[in-house]
Amino acid sequence: MKEQMIAAAAALVAAWLVGRSIFTHNRVKCPRCGGSKVTRSSLFTARYRACGRCGGAGDVRAVFGSKK
Ligand SMILES: [Zn+2]
Repeated sequence: MKEQMIAAAAALVAAWLVGRSIFTHNRVKCPRCGGSKVTRSSLFTARYRACGRCGGAGDVRAVFGSKK
């Protein structure tokens, strides 16, 4: 029973975080590429790749950082 209450509380907190992130500061500049949408490979410095953090969107959702 205690575990179920903890799980329910965690779900509520998670839902609250998601809702807050969506309604207040949902989009933030991608911390990895800085909004440039691409990252430069350290091995092949001449090549640019679509940023894996934001999926080439340039910004990410706060808290979870899921693309779009
Ligand atoms: Zn990025």
